[in-house]
Amino acid sequence: MSFVNTFDNHTNCQIPVLEKFKRLLNPVNDEEFEKLAQLSAKITRQNFGYTMRLFAPLYLSNECINNCTYCGFSRSNAILRVTLNIDQIVAEAEHLHSLGFRSLLLVAGEHPKFVSEGYLEECIKAIRNFIPSIALEVGPMETSEYQKMVTSGCEALIVYQETYDRSTYKNLHTSGPKKDFNWRLECPERAYHGGFRRIGIGALFGLSEWKNEALALASHLAYLQRKCWKANYTVSFPRIRPAAGGFNPTHNLSDKDFLQLVFAFRISFPEVGIILSTRESESLRNNISKLGITSMSAGSHTEPGGYTGKGTDDLHYTVRGKRIELHSDDNPNSFCSTQSATEQFEINDARSPKEICEILIENGLDPVWKDWDQSILCSNHQNY
Ligand code: SF4
Repeated sequence: MSFVNTFDNHTNCQIPVLEKFKRLLNPVNDEEFEKLAQLSAKITRQNFGYTMRLFAPLYLSNECINNCTYCGFSRSNAILRVTLNIDQIVAEAEHLHSLGFRSLLLVAGEHPKFVSEGYLEECIKAIRNFIPSIALEVGPMETSEYQKMVTSGCEALIVYQETYDRSTYKNLHTSGPKKDFNWRLECPERAYHGGFRRIGIGALFGLSEWKNEALALASHLAYLQRKCWKANYTVSFPRIRPAAGGFNPTHNLSDKDFLQLVFAFRISFPEVGIILSTRESESLRNNISKLGITSMSAGSHTEPGGYTGKGTDDLHYTVRGKRIELHSDDNPNSFCSTQSATEQFEINDARSPKEICEILIENGLDPVWKDWDQSILCSNHQNY
């Protein structure tokens, strides 16, 4: 039995937390909106104090065998690609460490040739001595493969369903293993059984009607909390940003609705972490950091080698699986003078980690660089 078995009937699920969540998404006037904001802030302080966890994404590779219409790394996009080697990854991680980060999210496209299980294990092992909290956001794996990631020193897995609407999912994922909706939907459960202590789920807003996505995400979260109860959960609501391929969102999630979504999750799921990325603008990030968010990225790059310039010696194009050298006659963009890998999407808040810290402190919050160490679990990390 997994969430896949109940998912198609999730809108009929009448457990109290989901009824409450649904009510919180109803349209509100300004006064009611303000009350929701204050309640969300209060519940956040009660459960998380004045802390704000900081992390950075570290992109390992932008090679990918999937075509996800909304993503810059899609296989059919003629973009500059690279897969960092272990020394380059260590250099990127050391740079982020020098800025204060102790929590990194390793991100990669899905490509069995470049981003194999062995490669990811090597990456984790190479940085675990100085990065205590390592999370992964990569293609879905089997439970046994997740166990290897955990044994290597990884503590968290992030996997977003992108859209919970089956028909939209089918239309947007045109080729590659990601086409399998159920395989992805079961991923958090496999991650749990693989031993991850922290699991992040989410939807990419802009692909389908936002309230339906929110309700499905809340149902998924409620299911995981009931059935896989030993793990900590985070949720995230990334909105589409400009990227190679030029995808335009088909459904709008306004700033006000975005905020109400955060409030609804915070009020309904008081102990769940809510992540905010640099996809959002400076002003929105400044404001909402006080009202429900518990974890933020800062100074992010969404291309491999983006922090140090590493990896430029192996830049190439990969178009429909075929590698094309930068100066080859086959190169569709040989006039292009760009000398860094292509980003997954444009970020919207380019402030440095130091600037983000200053704003958080101005807002009365404590930036937290480190909140986890493997030694907490003594010698056996699976006995949590
Ligand atoms: S969303 Fe992920 S799987 Fe899809 S193209 Fe982008 S990197 Fe590849």
